[in-house]
Amino acid sequence: MALPTLVDPRKLANQGIVLEGHFDVKHLPRLALAVESIETPLSALIRFEVDEARAKVVNGNLTISVTAICQRCLDPVRVDLATDLAAQVVWSEDQIASVSGDREPWIVGDKMADLSVLLEDEVLLALPLVNYHEQGSCTGDTFLSKDGPSGDEKDDEIVADNPFNILKQLKK
Ligand SMILES: [Zn+2]
Repeated sequence: MALPTLVDPRKLANQGIVLEGHFDVKHLPRLALAVESIETPLSALIRFEVDEARAKVVNGNLTISVTAICQRCLDPVRVDLATDLAAQVVWSEDQIASVSGDREPWIVGDKMADLSVLLEDEVLLALPLVNYHEQGSCTGDTFLSKDGPSGDEKDDEIVADNPFNILKQLKK
């Protein structure tokens, strides 16, 4: 089932609504720019609730698969993303300070807000900045293994120097 884009989060929270469904690629324009291609719709289970402090909160989990570019071999690599959502509905930026640290503020100044924007934000946050194939399935592996471990001599020098540095400082 397709998720609704425009929702009234406060009303849904008051009613304790649970939404389960997906957003198609056309609702994820910023994600589409950030990756090579989007492989699956964004699936989500979203719970709207009023918490003990009477705050309107949104909890959920999201999954989506995309294709990115492996930064080791520059071939496409499939990335399966799964992330949790924990947000609190606020009226304006002035209220952001009142949102508990484990929640993200969701600024909804008017009655209605675009749910797809909130979920797309979460996916963009969960997307790694660089992506790699798993070791063993990347053609860049052979290139990588040519780099031997760097020598330990430098570390030894620093350790040997340390007592003298400390002495110098004590004399001052
Ligand atoms: Zn690779």
